[in-house]
Amino acid sequence: MKRLKFVLIAMLICSSIYAANPYKYTVDLTKVSDDKVFVELEAPRIKEKEIKFYMPKIVPGTYAIADYGRMVSELKAYDKRENLMEVERLDDNTWLIKDAKKLRKITYFVEDTYDSEQPGPEIFWPAGTNIEDNKNFIINNSGFFGYFDGMKKEEFELNIIRESGFYGATGMIPDNNPPMIGKLDIEGPTADLAVDRFVAEDYDRLVDSPLMYSEADTAIIKVANTDVLISTYSPNKMISAKEIAESIREVLAAQNKFLGGELPVDKYAFIFYFTDKPVTSYGALEHSYSSVYYMPEQTIEQMNQQLRDFAAHEFFHIVTPLNIHSEEIGSFDFNNPKMSRHLWMYEGMTEYFAGSVQVKYGLVSPEQYLGMLEEKLLISQQFKDQLPFTDLSLGALDEYADQYYNVYQKGALIGAALDIQLRELSNGAYGVQNMMADLSKEYGIHKSFKDEELFDEIVKLTYPEIGEFLQTYVAGDQSLPYKEIFDKVGVDIIDNGTVKQYSIILNQNNITLAEHEGEQRLAISNEAALDDMGRALGVKKGDIILSMNEIEMPAYGPEIQEFIGKQAQKIPTLETFTMTVWREVDGEGQKVELSAPNKQIDVQVPLALRFTENPTESQLELRKYWLEPADK
Ligand SMILES: [Zn+2]
Repeated sequence: MKRLKFVLIAMLICSSIYAANPYKYTVDLTKVSDDKVFVELEAPRIKEKEIKFYMPKIVPGTYAIADYGRMVSELKAYDKRENLMEVERLDDNTWLIKDAKKLRKITYFVEDTYDSEQPGPEIFWPAGTNIEDNKNFIINNSGFFGYFDGMKKEEFELNIIRESGFYGATGMIPDNNPPMIGKLDIEGPTADLAVDRFVAEDYDRLVDSPLMYSEADTAIIKVANTDVLISTYSPNKMISAKEIAESIREVLAAQNKFLGGELPVDKYAFIFYFTDKPVTSYGALEHSYSSVYYMPEQTIEQMNQQLRDFAAHEFFHIVTPLNIHSEEIGSFDFNNPKMSRHLWMYEGMTEYFAGSVQVKYGLVSPEQYLGMLEEKLLISQQFKDQLPFTDLSLGALDEYADQYYNVYQKGALIGAALDIQLRELSNGAYGVQNMMADLSKEYGIHKSFKDEELFDEIVKLTYPEIGEFLQTYVAGDQSLPYKEIFDKVGVDIIDNGTVKQYSIILNQNNITLAEHEGEQRLAISNEAALDDMGRALGVKKGDIILSMNEIEMPAYGPEIQEFIGKQAQKIPTLETFTMTVWREVDGEGQKVELSAPNKQIDVQVPLALRFTENPTESQLELRKYWLEPADK
């Protein structure tokens, strides 16, 4: 008996030792050299003879290869006597460490993805990293810190050395007792330095917990039980955290009601990085306790609706994939990723919710909401409609990468169609909101579903007809019967309709090139091809455009694209449209200022969504369940 007890004690000791085998990372943000920072890892104990050290090839939510290892250089491994050990770099993301049992420490330099010139795929900006000495650091942990093969479940400790005036915005809760600066191996004066320490339960959580360091610009909103932190970096101070908080407060309040009045997180961080550089792409990425936004720097008025749409979308990801996901996502393989077939849900349903919540709680009008769906319908026509959505999802990294953007278009429309179908079958009582709530009760953060079984699970919760719908329109190659579906809620699809849009006046039928002061410039070629806005301004054939809405027109070349982008952002915010042109008057060239009240014009589109003129009682009834909250 004693012996047994002894064995038990020994086992207890062993298991407690092995339970605490953390990675201890330290990075010093105060010593940037050559646009790189130095990373030091006090390695966990390793039992294998040799081991691979990985930087991720991909991270969850991006559905695109990143190869973060490209940013790492001069990786060195040391034993406990600080002797250099043998390391072999196998590929962009993998290092093989020989005699790994002796390993105590790894060090390397890492550069940021934002201005890297490394060959390879462009990393989705909200999943990228930024090192801008004394200004801003975007620490997406996947770009700074790696893991050992088979050792993803250990705890990760992060020590971040920063200037005392810098603030670290993150969804993580910092350790109240960070290490004293003197305890860390820092050379030189340390008076202005501080250390933040964070602990992540495993590598998945670490990658799921980005940080942004910069001078603090923050605001906090309380939404039900959740503290929501807004943190902003705007290089020219065009937009502040306080303004963003004002703008998205009511969206979050509506989302809280939409989700039943209780949010599944205590703390949530919105991390906004605004850039004043020309953008090739921008966007946002969701995490369990935060989301990161990379957007062009503009005023709050210029970006208002887009900001709210983005924030609503990313925040709703706390439903899926956070609380409803398949095994491929629940146990994510960072270096040999396997895709799930359910992007229609992770992205499509999330995008559907982001619009639906806004119409249900009066943040957009029903007509505006139809406009949002109409845009999705139009954009989705540029993609392969016959491609089963489950196949698109499985091939999103490679074969169907060019179809991925359709998850936000057709994916959301699948959500709308499913919602209308469910409401009809249940006489209004049950929609996708209820379906997702039931699924998250059944699964949740720690329980994954089997990818191939989700449809059956949904049928168990709903109706056999829903199973048929999913097999036909999501897993099958049939086009969604939009006319039939929208007719149920009294919405007509009009072919060759018109929509109201702001105009930039210039189009391929009315411009030409003309020489002005030795440069090729855009000029008006054809008055008959002007739209109503162009006519209201009194633009004439031969006018050479010098500036539009106080933005100077560049000479003909690649910069025109940027000019058009700026106009597209500015025009919807203007009361008066202005133009300066060079015009021949009585045989002599002169500057002429044109102006007219800014207005939307009718633009022909292949289709449009409109509320039916004389809807039936049952159409109105179902529309009410579709567009109004259940508690109303
Ligand atoms: Zn998303």
